[in-house]
Amino acid sequence: MICLCLSGTTLESWGEQLERNRRWISLVELRVDLLKPAERVPATIRRWWESVDTGLPLILTIRRPRDLGRWEGDEAQRAYLFEELLDELHPTYVDLELDRLGEPAWDRIAQRVHAAGGTIIRSHHEPRETPQELSPLVARLAGRSREIPKLAVQTNSTADLLALLRAAEEFKHRMPGRRALWVGMGDHGALTRVCPSRFRSAWTYASDGEQEAPAPGQIDPQTLKELYRVEEAHPEWPLFAVIGNPVGHSRSPEYHNNRFIDRRRPAVYVPLLVDDFSLFPELADLLGLYGASVTVPHKEAARRLAGDNAEDGGTGALNTLLRVKSDDGSLRWRGINTDIEGFLDALRGASTLPAGAKAAVIGAGGAARAIVAGLFRESLVVHLFNRTVERAGDLARELGVPQDNVHGLPEIAQPEGERFDVIVQTTSVGMDGTTDPIPFYRFHGGETVLDIIYTPRETPLLARARAAGCGTLNGETMFRRQAELQFDAFCRLIDDGEECR
Ligand code: NAP
Repeated sequence: MICLCLSGTTLESWGEQLERNRRWISLVELRVDLLKPAERVPATIRRWWESVDTGLPLILTIRRPRDLGRWEGDEAQRAYLFEELLDELHPTYVDLELDRLGEPAWDRIAQRVHAAGGTIIRSHHEPRETPQELSPLVARLAGRSREIPKLAVQTNSTADLLALLRAAEEFKHRMPGRRALWVGMGDHGALTRVCPSRFRSAWTYASDGEQEAPAPGQIDPQTLKELYRVEEAHPEWPLFAVIGNPVGHSRSPEYHNNRFIDRRRPAVYVPLLVDDFSLFPELADLLGLYGASVTVPHKEAARRLAGDNAEDGGTGALNTLLRVKSDDGSLRWRGINTDIEGFLDALRGASTLPAGAKAAVIGAGGAARAIVAGLFRESLVVHLFNRTVERAGDLARELGVPQDNVHGLPEIAQPEGERFDVIVQTTSVGMDGTTDPIPFYRFHGGETVLDIIYTPRETPLLARARAAGCGTLNGETMFRRQAELQFDAFCRLIDDGEECR
């Protein structure tokens, strides 16, 4: 289920948020603390709720500042407002904090809710960090069988997400079938929002895309419903992810989920921010991950993880990890690199280059590995230009580029320098739409210029190359092609069901 958290400061803005999102949601949370004090009139809120006539169940919440709320009154006033709102709204759910448990005024509210057929959400928030040992806290949260325990923690790292996931797993085994809510706030916890079924969360909290989210990391209901298929997704659906740091900008979730939807495949693909790759195998085990796209800075670590089962095309890096079953039944990692084919398909579409043609590669990071391997496969002569010459030297040694062909960036401008048939720009410079990694280079017009950046569609370097008469291509074709090949590998993994997990 998707719960829209109403976050405006007026009932009018709540109405607008509901109107924009009602077709994607099945539950509404009234965050009364976010309303301006003058708008917190129980009878007026009831009349407004009746007028919007959603027919949806309601969560009543009045959050304190220590839990990321905006309630500025004292606790007696908050309890009194709860009581008044119960009379007016008869909510299906009421969110009460764990630390109020045992206090007469608050226990009376809980009793009234139960007596009216409602349910208490027993919540605890950790707005700054995730405690690494969550079991005692979860045991206290889940102490009353009629309530729904809710744990919302700020996840600042992969270790934090793991701690939350372990707690959810333990809870699932101890109390099978019991409803709960697990929320990882912040980028590291995105998985808990887009894939609540994996955590056995009863629903996910969403916020209107046009307003500032009331809790870090909340996503809009349309994306949750249409891209991540939150309402349909079953915990056993094959799960895939893009792992990297950062991953927020990645277009892979959009691409792969849309392909799964088009092919009517029950599978879901999520962004997974991984800051410490050594934790990834445990994370993958706990999630039952089938496979992953790998992005910066983990491609080389992924190669090491796959060991003898890596088809890296001589790059020392992988962009795809697949979890397969060994003959003895254990699970192992296999890896491929679809960046090389993706790049070569783009290059072949842009130009026909004879063997021995000269290529300049700008940059010597992870992406440059696949580019150099691809250019070698086409028998081109490769020169590397990088800001940090030592890094280019290391890459050259690893991939077999002669050290004489390793240069600092400015050397590409020297008049006596090589004339290149193709220039491939592989650095992140130009993503801002204003910078050019080699502003000192004058195009002669005969070069084919590929910039593997795809946002913006035309970097300043590409614009300059086009103006000089060069053939140009951005990173879109490479991205799409490498993703297609990856998607095919994911589908084979699903089809060979017994082979994986
Ligand atoms: P990476 O491993 O971090 O390497 C970054 C490269 O950019 C290094 O060569 C680095 O030089 C250089 N660089 C960074 N900032 C610079 C600056 N201010 N001036 C000069 N050089 C600078 O990253 P990556 O994985 O190779 O990815 C690079 C880009 O390719 C990203 O924009 C990524 O989105 C894109 N990409 C596109 C595709 C696609 O399918 N189209 C696939 C993969 C990657 P130093 O060595 O001196 O630090």
